[in-house]
Amino acid sequence: MDPVILLARQLIKRPSVTPDDHGCQALIADRLGASGFEISHLPFGPVANLWATHGSGEPVLVFAGHSDVVPAGPVSRWSVPPFAGMLGEDWLYGRGAIDMKGALAAMVEAAVASVDVSPEHAGTLAFLVTSDEEGPAVDGTLKVLGYLRGQGVPVTAALVGEPSSRDRAGDAIRIGRRGSLSGEVRFEGASGHVAYVAPESNPVHRLLGFLTQCRKLDPGAGQTIFPPLSFHVTSIEAEAAGRNVVPAGARALFNLRYPPTSTCHELEDGIQCLLNAIPGPHELHWRRSAEPYLSPPGRLRECARAVIRERIGREPELRVDGGTSDGRFFAAMGCEVVELGLPSERLHAFDERVSVADLLTLRDLYRDITERYLAPAA
Ligand SMILES: [Zn+2]
Repeated sequence: MDPVILLARQLIKRPSVTPDDHGCQALIADRLGASGFEISHLPFGPVANLWATHGSGEPVLVFAGHSDVVPAGPVSRWSVPPFAGMLGEDWLYGRGAIDMKGALAAMVEAAVASVDVSPEHAGTLAFLVTSDEEGPAVDGTLKVLGYLRGQGVPVTAALVGEPSSRDRAGDAIRIGRRGSLSGEVRFEGASGHVAYVAPESNPVHRLLGFLTQCRKLDPGAGQTIFPPLSFHVTSIEAEAAGRNVVPAGARALFNLRYPPTSTCHELEDGIQCLLNAIPGPHELHWRRSAEPYLSPPGRLRECARAVIRERIGREPELRVDGGTSDGRFFAAMGCEVVELGLPSERLHAFDERVSVADLLTLRDLYRDITERYLAPAA
């Protein structure tokens, strides 16, 4: 069995639901340590983090990933056990196969192959693996990068293994992500008989009016490669007391996904203005989930595109869609970011699975990118 398949199966068999790493990082550390990587375990709170390096000095190319997975959900919805690492003829099944234990295995085996062939590469090849990407993302990559900065360790470029491809590994890369901003709004009103309360005093009506206004919010970002701002209501509740009783309060949760041309402050101000135009008592609370980022073109992107052209025979699509990723933490410290991973189709789904061919392709892409990026000076 190819080592990348073997390692991916071993990782899937460890049910590492956030923030429990369940021994995944020890397995990765053993494999990297045997090839001469220096290993540091950097736990913060309940989160396990691994920092591993080979070589020294700049540039510092970091393979970034996470060992945690989202819960499997009801096992009855799976046609295979989610943590068995079952291997069919063409597919490897299990929670995390796509997001992102398959990519982790590909990174590790690519790095091992690369340093075995060229131990005298330029600069540093590093790994940053956290067990807190699917969760609050507070004690993971963010803390480790803060620690590294404190130690004076530079990070030049990050190759993030999040699922980024469309149909086959390498047909697309991500170079940015939208920001995520969540809000909770509550309207108060005087509860009473529907025959006696004025409709405009009904907190549900005021809430619906507000949400309808929010859906029209357009910060006028202009032309960018990002999709336009999206506004979604994710929950609406009213304190219902009966069929003919106007509720005393109504509450909604909503989320905005926004491009880097907007800031969370602008969006918060815009929505606050809409809210101020609606009479009556209300409350609004924000949760800033993630800042957007767009990584400027750099050498890592050029290396990735050249390798993909050679191996896949086509130019990769440049994507900025999808959910948030830890790439934002690297981008915020001025580091170039490229996200290259497996096809995202079965991400977080029941019967999550990865094609064996994609795993091998991804391993080869990672290895060639590493060798090109860290090629010794001629
Ligand atoms: Zn992920």
